[in-house]
Amino acid sequence: MAMPQAMANQLPDLGESSRQYLTDKQEKDIARSIMRDIYSSHQFLADAEVEAYLNKLGSRLVSESSASGRNLTLFVLRDPSINAFALPGGYIGVHTGLIQSAENESELAGVLAHEVAHVSQEHLSRMIAQQERNYLPTLAALAIAVLAARSNANVGSAAIATAQAASIQSQLNFTREHESEADRIGLDILVSAGFDPRGLSSFFNKLERTNRLYDNNAPDYLRTHPLNSQRIADMDGRVEHLPYKQVRDSNEFHLVRARLVAMEDSPEAAVERFKDQIRQKKTPLEAASHYGLALALARQNKYTEAEKEVALAIKSVDSPMLLSLRAELTAQAGNSAQSLNLFQLALGRYPQHKPLVYGYGLNLILAGKSREALSFVSAQTNLWPDDSRLWKLLARANAALGHKLASHAAEAEAMAAEGNIPAALEQINLGIKAGDGNFYDLSAAEARRREWQETLSSDNGKK
Ligand SMILES: [Zn+2]
Repeated sequence: MAMPQAMANQLPDLGESSRQYLTDKQEKDIARSIMRDIYSSHQFLADAEVEAYLNKLGSRLVSESSASGRNLTLFVLRDPSINAFALPGGYIGVHTGLIQSAENESELAGVLAHEVAHVSQEHLSRMIAQQERNYLPTLAALAIAVLAARSNANVGSAAIATAQAASIQSQLNFTREHESEADRIGLDILVSAGFDPRGLSSFFNKLERTNRLYDNNAPDYLRTHPLNSQRIADMDGRVEHLPYKQVRDSNEFHLVRARLVAMEDSPEAAVERFKDQIRQKKTPLEAASHYGLALALARQNKYTEAEKEVALAIKSVDSPMLLSLRAELTAQAGNSAQSLNLFQLALGRYPQHKPLVYGYGLNLILAGKSREALSFVSAQTNLWPDDSRLWKLLARANAALGHKLASHAAEAEAMAAEGNIPAALEQINLGIKAGDGNFYDLSAAEARRREWQETLSSDNGKK
């Protein structure tokens, strides 16, 4: 790009010696190696509904930021501590503890808006780019060690990691400037997205109180996002000048919280808890208590009772989460034709709701309609090519139809979407060996294999 000489002179030197940002490829490579470990960790909560809710919230926030249009991926870790963290590549991890401890949706949105600001300001990219070049793979590896050590203090092998982890941790922590920038921009994002700005300041104050109680065992969030009295004062000062705004929590906020209780507690305890809430009318949203009760009953295989509860919830609240559970329960109760009908009706109204897409695809396969499943799911993979759940469904539909190459090729795509290139190569090799594809499918598979081989050898080259 041509520009006047005077202006060019003011620009910083962007030569090799002073890289400020990672390239897209570097960021993707780092993200891939971190996410591969996260997807396979036992803490990763593979729950399509919770993910769908968080990703909708995330895209509502990012569309109000300077990174509008950027793809974010929010994922959930089963961890009672209050934390959320941004990773390279637009990934944002959210602990179940944060979702459960938020007093309202604006608080949760406030914390996520702060993380979105770290992403939109490319803080991580800048921080990592400033490290030595040959340090990049080590950094990615240690980021994982830090994540692991952080959430499981009792791991024996953590001993080795700890010394290194501590030094890396300090480099992964955002600087004071980054923190105040993320606070300021996060607050703007939160307000533009229509949430109550007090969400962020009330959360900060709550963390600060917790911190005093814990003394030197600070909540995780405070270790990665150092909080000081200046930050709290700045935030309170900004919020003070904003007009008061009453914001109603979305139904999904309450449904997701009920879902986490229903799935994480023992089913017996969850059933008692929701029955109590309904009996004593002590519930922020009665439909959410019926939904939680339905889920807990389903875990006890009491499908007819569960269906009654979800029907009660649907009477007062319109949500794709409820429609999805009703269709699922109908299938569990053995009425597959009616279930498929319910999925179709719900998809007609909420075509973007991924759990409905997965549910419909899976139930088509289970009902022996694999050909229909194949055409439905493959159209969905065109819309969402990075969705490993869709690829796994496609693999299953193909396997049911006896298509070996196509099944392994879809399984390979699922592995690649989760960052696991060696497993993707293993699957694509099995597919090519199966020898049941036509010339066109076979060349497509071989082309994909070459791409993954190149990715792998460039990864090895870095080490
Ligand atoms: Zn931060």
